[in-house]
Amino acid sequence: MNTGTKDHAELAGIFNKDEDRVNWHDETLWWIRAKRDKIVHQLPEWEALRETASKIKFNVLGNMDTYLMEFEAAAKANGVTVHWAADAKEHNEIVHKLIAEQGVTQMVKSKSMLTEECHLNEYLATHGIEVIDSDLGERIVQLAGEPPSHIVLPCIHKKKEEIGDLFHMHLGTPSNMADPQFLTETARGSLRETFLTRKVALTGVNFAVAETGEFVVCTNEGNADMGAHLAKVHIACMGIEKLIPKREHLGVFLRLLTRSATGQPQTTYSSHFAKPRAGQEMHIVLVDNGRSVQLGREDFRNSLKCIRCGACMNTCPVYRRSGGHSYHTAVAGPIGSILAPNLDMKKYADLPFASTLCGSCSNVCPVKIDIHDQLYKWRQVLVKEGYAPTGKKIAMQVMAKTLASPTMYHAAGKMGRLTIKYAPFAVSNKLNPWYKERDMPSAPKESFGEWYAKNRK
Ligand code: SF4
Repeated sequence: MNTGTKDHAELAGIFNKDEDRVNWHDETLWWIRAKRDKIVHQLPEWEALRETASKIKFNVLGNMDTYLMEFEAAAKANGVTVHWAADAKEHNEIVHKLIAEQGVTQMVKSKSMLTEECHLNEYLATHGIEVIDSDLGERIVQLAGEPPSHIVLPCIHKKKEEIGDLFHMHLGTPSNMADPQFLTETARGSLRETFLTRKVALTGVNFAVAETGEFVVCTNEGNADMGAHLAKVHIACMGIEKLIPKREHLGVFLRLLTRSATGQPQTTYSSHFAKPRAGQEMHIVLVDNGRSVQLGREDFRNSLKCIRCGACMNTCPVYRRSGGHSYHTAVAGPIGSILAPNLDMKKYADLPFASTLCGSCSNVCPVKIDIHDQLYKWRQVLVKEGYAPTGKKIAMQVMAKTLASPTMYHAAGKMGRLTIKYAPFAVSNKLNPWYKERDMPSAPKESFGEWYAKNRK
């Protein structure tokens, strides 16, 4: 790609060097996808739930301004301080200011992909503030100095032995100790100390209810609750698309979310936060960071319906075999490849091409986002805007001319068949990446057109 930045195919190539890891990654995610299928089929009303969720979100996207104002008014009435951030920079500055006001240099954080998107941890580190991620998976990648590779399973690319080594290095566990139960208990012990001593806790937001000004945070470990309940200051950061109109709509989304994400009937903790407890401060930061631009892109606005369940990643044959880091953006996989070019077309021009367009992502999406159609549309936008690599652009122009002319098409077919037969090395060589993992097909004796002309006169 001519982005001059990172490239999915190149990064996937690095991941693909370890074939065992690729197979294991692929199988683990497929196992989760299969769990999702099993539990989904236990609900006869599944399709009705998806349709309802999609329509509720459609309504939200069409009335975003009204719902945001309603949410702000209700949250303020509950005693919550509401902040608005136009972009990542403003978001980070607001959070930093709130921490600095407390005179502390440490904060505990539960999982929030928005803060990953805004690179909050790095920003705060440059201002001398240490952030401890309290979600176990997030903590593991934090200790490894890596970003999450999946929005629900941040360290899915790591094997338990590697986690054992990390814990040995950072938390003092015995070497070669890879027992998941032991490692989990060690992490829990170390995090308990963090929860008890941090004055400021930050959480993400899964759903924000416009009518009541409350918000819901879903975790399987209860870490958001531990942080928020023990801290003097609770900061909740949310993208503006997290809104739902009414509390009664929550049931629809909560039933869809975890079934799609991990195949569980419910998240272990769906914690509702409405107002600060006595003596506590509660802040909500409402972040745009490109969302209103995406709202204005008619073909892509549906991507804002996303509830970040990760199902599209678990099912995607490209994601499963290329690993989350190859997407070089906070939200990887099919939906990340739609969201990222909105933020920076040049930097993420490669991502919409990291898909087979098989449609499996759209089939599993609990809010019925037309994911593969949007990926296809992004490709067209990116080519029109001049972000396709020159080689590909020329190849496509030649292809368009060939397909538009029967004479050229037949001549090219004949040439192709002769090349495969008499000079296979011309296509099957190291310079042609297409043949890296493929076997050369044998050329047919004649084309379908020639066969038809002889046999169907
Ligand atoms: S696009 Fe759909 S399937 Fe993918 S994470 Fe979002 S809600 Fe889940």
